[in-house]
Amino acid sequence: MSCALVTGASRGLGRAIAVQLAKDHGLYILINYSSNQTAAEETLEEIRKDGGDGELLQFNVQTKSEVDEVLNTWKANNEDKFISVLVNNAGITKDGLFMWMPEKDWDDVMNISTKGLFNVTQNIIQQMLRKRSGRIVNIASVSGMKGVAGQTNYSAAKGAIISATKALAQEVAKRKITVNAVAPGFIASDMTKDLNEDELKQMIPMNRFGKADEVAHLVSFLCSDKAAYITGEVVNINGGIYS
Ligand code: NAP
Repeated sequence: MSCALVTGASRGLGRAIAVQLAKDHGLYILINYSSNQTAAEETLEEIRKDGGDGELLQFNVQTKSEVDEVLNTWKANNEDKFISVLVNNAGITKDGLFMWMPEKDWDDVMNISTKGLFNVTQNIIQQMLRKRSGRIVNIASVSGMKGVAGQTNYSAAKGAIISATKALAQEVAKRKITVNAVAPGFIASDMTKDLNEDELKQMIPMNRFGKADEVAHLVSFLCSDKAAYITGEVVNINGGIYS
């Protein structure tokens, strides 16, 4: 049975992506989350409502020992299943001007985004390499494309994800594994709920924030057979704010 692991799938973009992958591709969904089990269970309920299935996998993406323990145990208990799709979505922001940024805010944002990508991808890619197939989609951001004032840590983390995507894509293309990134602009979620949409939307040519579902459709396409020749790409989804 083919499965998709979506990190940070308890809420926001991750939840929408998990639901869409189940709906579009009939994948069994592994819903990773950090601490919000109730929200993760709601994601699973939504998947089941549409006739899909999956399970919860709790781990903190930034801690390699934890990632390996949970994923290796799951794999040992599920030899009939293959994680053919990985979406590295877990991420946080800790915004502030660089000159006053606490070291911890730099480290937390970098570790969850970039170390998290390393930890989870290195574990999952081994089986993809052996099976000679796989889809990896990394959730970057417009901040990683253009750099955003007040988000030096987040821009650095997302920029690193974009470069890692391009490099890894070249390493594994021969094994028919594609690695792409998606770079959303402002998308309505818990991460952006405290922002002033009325003010910010004036900068967005589409004049609105995006929806998690809209990002999910793009990710789902990149995970499909139709996207077999797209790799090492970064796709912007930002209502025209930057390209
Ligand atoms: P969100 O609503 O704040 O959700 C974050 C998700 O990540 C939650 O499921 C959370 O789990 C999980 N998470 C956080 N730290 C984790 C950790 N250490 N280990 C495992 N899971 C962890 O955020 P979102 O807006 O959906 O963002 C999702 C991704 O899209 C992020 O990478 C973000 O940078 C990117 N993005 C978002 C926007 C936007 O406008 N929203 C724009 C560009 C890019 P818990 O529920 O357990 O806390």
